[in-house]
Amino acid sequence: MKLRTGLAAAALLAAGSSQASVEPKTAIDQFLASNVVVSAKSQVIDKRCKAALSLAGKSRAAIEKRTGKASLKGDFVPFDDLSNLLDSTVGEMSTIAAVSPVKEVRDAAQDCISKVSDLSTKISLSRPIYDRLAAIPKDSLPPPAEHAVDRTLLQFRLSGVDKDEATRQKVEALQKDITDTGLAFERTIAEKPSEIVLDSADALEGLPQDYIDAHKPGADGKLHISTNYPDALPLLKFAKRADVRKAMYMAFQNRAWPDNEDVLKKMLAKRYELAQVLGYPNFAELITADKMIGNAAHLKQFLDEVNQAANPAAERDQALLLAEEKKIDPAATSVNAWDSSYLSNIIQKEKFDVDGSVLRQYFTYEKARAGIFQLLHDLFGADIRPWKTAVWDPSVTAWELYDHGRLIGQFYLDMSPRKGKFTHAETSMVRTGMSGRQLPIGLLICNFPAEGPMEHSDVTTFLHEFGHLIHFLYSGHQDYAAQSMPKVQWDFVEAPSQMLEEWTWDYDTLRRFATNAEGQPIPEALVAKMNAGRHFGEAGSWKRQIAFSAISLAYHDRPADFDLTQLWKSEFNRYSLTPYVEGTHPYASFGHLNGYSSIYYTYVWSKAIALDLFTRFKSTGIRDPKTAMAYRTRVLDPGAVSDAGDLIKDFLGRDFSADALKSELQAK
Ligand SMILES: [Zn+2]
Repeated sequence: MKLRTGLAAAALLAAGSSQASVEPKTAIDQFLASNVVVSAKSQVIDKRCKAALSLAGKSRAAIEKRTGKASLKGDFVPFDDLSNLLDSTVGEMSTIAAVSPVKEVRDAAQDCISKVSDLSTKISLSRPIYDRLAAIPKDSLPPPAEHAVDRTLLQFRLSGVDKDEATRQKVEALQKDITDTGLAFERTIAEKPSEIVLDSADALEGLPQDYIDAHKPGADGKLHISTNYPDALPLLKFAKRADVRKAMYMAFQNRAWPDNEDVLKKMLAKRYELAQVLGYPNFAELITADKMIGNAAHLKQFLDEVNQAANPAAERDQALLLAEEKKIDPAATSVNAWDSSYLSNIIQKEKFDVDGSVLRQYFTYEKARAGIFQLLHDLFGADIRPWKTAVWDPSVTAWELYDHGRLIGQFYLDMSPRKGKFTHAETSMVRTGMSGRQLPIGLLICNFPAEGPMEHSDVTTFLHEFGHLIHFLYSGHQDYAAQSMPKVQWDFVEAPSQMLEEWTWDYDTLRRFATNAEGQPIPEALVAKMNAGRHFGEAGSWKRQIAFSAISLAYHDRPADFDLTQLWKSEFNRYSLTPYVEGTHPYASFGHLNGYSSIYYTYVWSKAIALDLFTRFKSTGIRDPKTAMAYRTRVLDPGAVSDAGDLIKDFLGRDFSADALKSELQAK
């Protein structure tokens, strides 16, 4: 459930103003009016990239050359435009790299990202631009503009702009290495084939018939089951044979290994070096400096607090799992990782009477999509209509979002697996929106079954990604690109998406779209049972998220000379009740280590915010349109106009607190 924005972590933020409705379109406006996401030719990508770089180069030179009195309009606006050009180009190219069916095109797009990122790094180290922006008189600025300028200057300083020339050159070289190793890391995860081979269909005993039908033997008479999510997750949940589950678990946790071992080591070493060069003790301190959480010590403390709160419920659930495990192996003293999903499903069935195979009959992709569109209409007044435009694959659909007749943004849905496509779920930003100048264009990339039933958890993922998408589209109407959602404090970005997940547990919402093949809506009793079983395993899975957060932190809070496997194991076992499995190398496919580096905690932190925001919905009824509109106008629409903490306070009428998450984990 990643978020792919323009520039990766440490690059620059920007700000600017527009009033373009009364001014002629700039060259950057004209350039961004079109894009090449549907192109199947690498030459087109190369040409687009060259044009973007040339335009950015000119724009940079013009800002650096400016003299006289610095001003918002004269310096800040062109800089915001320049940053937006770079961000939107990376957004466009990241989209292509993630979804294009043509390998040469994906490669060309990645090559472009690397070039644009290099230029962005150079600009983030441009002393002339920094000096111009720092010289803008603040006293006459309205608060949102002042905030945008201040955030921009902070980003410049975090980039090292105020260091001497030799240091800035070192930073530039390190940033390039970090970008390139990051791209290589993600490319291997997406493209390295990985599968298990089973002798016969007997090995699939326990799996739903539609899964068995979709996995016929190959030419060699054997079953080849990939480690892609739609293949791997049902197998881990339903396959009766422990050896089959274990084979899948091992293959899944060894994706992109050993290929990514050295790539990751290099990435971590370069990040550590960068932090040191910039005067920070390590990369974790550098990356948290502009986040809500503030620093690595606060981050550690937060993880430990939530972990404490989760312990009693997690231990209680683990005891139930272990009791089931002992039915398979009476000598078991802990739950095998490859049994966890399977045993949870058994308990859900026996204790809460929720049968996953019955539940999934109520969900298909088409129904879920219609249901989500309707929900967004009911809550936020969203009117979603087909967008007639070219797409890169026949399975991709395109849509427009209207608000009371006004076009707010456009988006693509690329929702089923395809060879070479990004294998996880994420929201991609093709172009950032600005008031009166550019409509935001976004994209959801998911990997759901194209046909037939889907899991309830898929529906939750679907709505989660929509949470990012509407945040991006609604916030794309500010004066400056720097004020839209991609520039929101990073540890807030998962909150809107995690909060929306709550509606997939609401009967009143589900009954409107979850119907079986006979057209009967999901029974209220089944949803009630689902909710009774919902919190089973929840505390344990948050402890696992805390473990991943602690790993992402530990990989970045020390010199990078540690053993990746050993540190993974020790941090994982410190928090997870299901121990690390020897022989696995999960870090090799932990894609977040590129885009999120040490800030994977964002998911736990944002969840705490999401549940806190949700308290207001709970108090008024979760489908109350007034509350939903207040949320939209105070939290989503403002994007990055002010600090995330202020937006939360504006909506809740008080400061953010992690109590809602802690009490949810304690009580359930
Ligand atoms: Zn997300």
